[in-house]
Amino acid sequence: MFSRRQFFGLGGIGMLTLSAGCQPDAFQRSVFADDISTRSVPDRVRFKSLKDHLLGYPINMNTPSDGFFRWREQLAEEGVDTFAFNNVGNPFKASPIPFNTHDYERDTILAFGNLFEFPADDLWGFLSHSGTDSNMHGMYMGRTILRGRTGLLPKTYFTREAHYSVQILRDLLGLETVMVDTLADGGMNPDDLASKLADNSNSPALVVATVGTTFKGAIDNIDEIQKELAHHESYVHVDAALFGGYLPFTNHSAEVSCQSGDDSVSKRYDSIAVSCHKFFGFPSPAGLFITRQSIYDEFNELFSRIHNPEYIHHVPGTIICSRDAVKPAEFYYFTTPQALTRQRDDARLMLDNAAYFFDQLNTHFPQLGATRANELSNTIYFRSPGETIIKKYSLATMHLDVDDQSEEYAHVVVMPHVSRNVLAKFLSDLEGLHE
Ligand SMILES: *Cc1c(COP(=O)(O)O)cnc(C)c1O
Repeated sequence: MFSRRQFFGLGGIGMLTLSAGCQPDAFQRSVFADDISTRSVPDRVRFKSLKDHLLGYPINMNTPSDGFFRWREQLAEEGVDTFAFNNVGNPFKASPIPFNTHDYERDTILAFGNLFEFPADDLWGFLSHSGTDSNMHGMYMGRTILRGRTGLLPKTYFTREAHYSVQILRDLLGLETVMVDTLADGGMNPDDLASKLADNSNSPALVVATVGTTFKGAIDNIDEIQKELAHHESYVHVDAALFGGYLPFTNHSAEVSCQSGDDSVSKRYDSIAVSCHKFFGFPSPAGLFITRQSIYDEFNELFSRIHNPEYIHHVPGTIICSRDAVKPAEFYYFTTPQALTRQRDDARLMLDNAAYFFDQLNTHFPQLGATRANELSNTIYFRSPGETIIKKYSLATMHLDVDDQSEEYAHVVVMPHVSRNVLAKFLSDLEGLHE
């Protein structure tokens, strides 16, 4: 540890060094870019071989189709991304700043809203910066609406399997947590939710339900959650960062639908978050945030009392003021028939490969105790296979309590680039270890 005196002493030396290096020439050479044409381009071949090996994180490492890159060029020809475009404001309202891509953003939300079965006349949303940004808007919307209805701040309900962003956002929103226990598969325990709601009957409930938890791929049962919430003032935000991308293209689309097959349940959830760079493999982080127009209106009525920015002529509807205009226009590509076909194929391939991989692990490496939380999951977790494999395949690890013992586990997320060939290589590397 440095003493206070030593710390200041070092600071003094640092300052001396800095001032000595501060002649303009030296400063420019070391800090600013050289002539850009002399810079080497990134080693794409190396990237390619590395990306095949990324098995531990939910990112689709396949390159988007040629059609996507042609669409990018077309947008550039239209002028998008050639000067400072800005999507500030509500994409469903006329914007005072004409250099935006609100039309593409709106059409993207209409298309994806349709996949999640939002009624076309009761749909609102926007393209956010990420899954976390979408979770932030969902949780803030829920907090605002519940406080508006009851005059009380809600408590936030989620499980320890929820993504860490939910805890950060809970802190930012200054909300109290009610941690709900999980079932054996990692999904939210509805009985525990019922008893926690009873313990906190005086506060409204902001429930963050995860469809596809980050490590285990567990699903919080939204229908069971809604049953428990029947007599409690509540808002349900669904975090479907990964699963929300592919489930609409499978036979399990009902799992992320906002409507229930059961007429006695009016809605399954209030808002949903999906990451664009995970399943879709969109080349930079972005997110979908989708809710109902009626929920948005209720939120906006309250929001506009504190945030009426006369300056941009309408209430922006988003926490963030300036917003990217390039990503919504680019992501619009993922609503085209060609893209939808590829998404359907990718979704099927992923689930087939996940089932194959799970079966292979159980057959050949039963000692790893491989688990797939449910058949909608593309995530398989198992006892840590050791440092070499973890490094080679960028596996995420986590300590789990199994039979009251804490043990390190790793997971493989079978994304579209994780082909049978890649899995065969992985399995043969495991074989090498267990010989
Ligand atoms: C990845 C993930 C997030 C965070 O999404 P970003 O787009 O990376 O911000 C949130 N929730 C879940 C369940 C995730 O898997």
